[in-house]
Amino acid sequence: MSDIRITNCHTHLFHSRHVPAAYPYPALKPFRKMPWLIKALSFGAHLIGQQSVSEKLARLYRFQKEADEASQRDILDNLRRHYPNNTRFVALPMEMSAFGFGAPEVPLSAQHDELAKLSGDPEVGRSVIPFATIDPRSDPQAQELWRAIDGLKFRGLKLYPRLGFAPDDPVLMQKVYPRLEEKNLPVMSHCSRGGVQGRYLSDHWADRYTEPEAFIPVMRAHPKLRICLAHFGGQRDWDAYINPDLEDPLDDAFGRNWQVAIRRMIGSGDYPGLWTDISYTLFQFEEYAPFLRMFLTGDDDESERLRSRVLFGSDYYMTRLEALSEKAVCIRLRNVLGEEIFRQIAEENPAKWLGEA
Ligand SMILES: [Zn+2]
Repeated sequence: MSDIRITNCHTHLFHSRHVPAAYPYPALKPFRKMPWLIKALSFGAHLIGQQSVSEKLARLYRFQKEADEASQRDILDNLRRHYPNNTRFVALPMEMSAFGFGAPEVPLSAQHDELAKLSGDPEVGRSVIPFATIDPRSDPQAQELWRAIDGLKFRGLKLYPRLGFAPDDPVLMQKVYPRLEEKNLPVMSHCSRGGVQGRYLSDHWADRYTEPEAFIPVMRAHPKLRICLAHFGGQRDWDAYINPDLEDPLDDAFGRNWQVAIRRMIGSGDYPGLWTDISYTLFQFEEYAPFLRMFLTGDDDESERLRSRVLFGSDYYMTRLEALSEKAVCIRLRNVLGEEIFRQIAEENPAKWLGEA
């Protein structure tokens, strides 16, 4: 086996006490206190022959169990089992105090502190690359963000515009991006139509804040900033791309496909600071991997640019909801892309995006 040192650019270690008790919605609340209920339901569905329902519930149980781990360390230990020992993981926190569901039990500052402690751990610290996060509504002076970056030595910024803010929010434009660019630190931003969403935010606005074009003003103002749009546009847009015959005029994923937009924007060369990762999306491995391979193996300039801007990431532990394990997806990817391209997206590109190379 070759000596690729993998950097997984997209993982999560936050747990249920970082999420407000009222989220996702009141109907699911009993499950948070009784995850065994999901397991019981799963067993019941199995008994009456509903295999796929039973399987889905079993995954929901796995996900719930992961979120209920007592510490970020426990989740990291579960994750590390899937990868070679020298693998590094970009750990992305979540700030969920300002999107309409009340405050979580543990505030962001404590989440940052716990992550900092983990990255300083003598045993596993070297495998963790901590990122800091901000919701401009809860930190309008970006104080907590810079405390984490300057004080705790965090190595990048995680954004989640679907929570209810635009990437060119004045707080970010004035107090965050200029210094981030100066310090040569990268940005990771959620880019799919799924995921967490502000309670009072319509799907329409959630998509306007999240779509690839929403970052154009940021990239124009800060051409040297390295911005990764996560999930390569997301599964809904990949599905729409692959199944044009299912076209629905009311579904924006057909009319303005985010996967196509990301490839065009990177391929054009007009946005040299733009990157993407394949996290979560590629867990639909059988359906999507052949397309990814095709996008990454062309020998025109567009393909070459794209190849140099795609990052390996998984979105652990969100992927507990999917059938394939981390290990299975990682090895299958390596197999289908070949060692050379896998090395580029899992080792070379992450080092450049992180500002190490
Ligand atoms: Zn994620």
